[in-house]
Amino acid sequence: MSAHKIIIAIDGFSSCGKSTLARQLAAKLGYNYIDSGAMYRAITLYFLRNGIDFNKPEAATRALQDINLSFHFNEIRQESDIYLNDEDVEPYIRDLIVAEKVSPVAAIKEVRAFAVAQQQRMGKSKGIVMDGRDIGTVVFPDAELKIFMTADPDVRVLRRYNEMLATNPNVTMEEVKHNLELRDYIDSNREESPLRKADDAIELNNSNLSRQEQLEIVLEWVKDRATDIRTSTRVTAFNEN
Ligand code: C5P
Repeated sequence: MSAHKIIIAIDGFSSCGKSTLARQLAAKLGYNYIDSGAMYRAITLYFLRNGIDFNKPEAATRALQDINLSFHFNEIRQESDIYLNDEDVEPYIRDLIVAEKVSPVAAIKEVRAFAVAQQQRMGKSKGIVMDGRDIGTVVFPDAELKIFMTADPDVRVLRRYNEMLATNPNVTMEEVKHNLELRDYIDSNREESPLRKADDAIELNNSNLSRQEQLEIVLEWVKDRATDIRTSTRVTAFNEN
């Protein structure tokens, strides 16, 4: 669409369809999609596997020294998998056992500093769509386009339930609902970078939108932002001469 690569930050509550939109945009624009939640999930998986008591910040900080996170493109899925040290942990990070602990882990200051530093490095060359909880407020406060996604709670529970059924046929709707409510509560009320809409974010409620409809709406916003950049670049060039 535009040669001007921008940063697109997508935030919102759990299961609002952030990653679906982010994937659509990345595919359409030829951008990199980075799932910041996958980083917090992979750290949580490491803590669980290694019995790290994450109620003790010193234990969490020590453990972070042994964690290396990276994204590698998966040709079959046509998107990046997250690696924890040298292991592709994509198949494990969506399990309920991880989902139940990820929000307390993501509330730890040291964990956030570790993840955010890496996320900011990934945004250096622009052309990136990142979704999460603090992308527009903390990770990329200067992102050219910030979207805050919302959807009705029932729609969100059903979406996540259907998604989880594929890998966990025993999961119940009640469990999913409880997990979403708990995560939203912790994510919104933590001290470090709580989930909130950035002042300059555009709100998108997609409860009654098809995937195609939401993509078309957001592509218009991208077009506006890219045009703004072109205009301001021209103005700067004019002023400099
Ligand atoms: O996006 P996803 O649901 O996979 O994120 C899992 C959890 O990771 C969230 O519930 C939240 O606790 C944490 N998270 C965060 N900041 C982000 C992305 C995710 O705190 N930028």
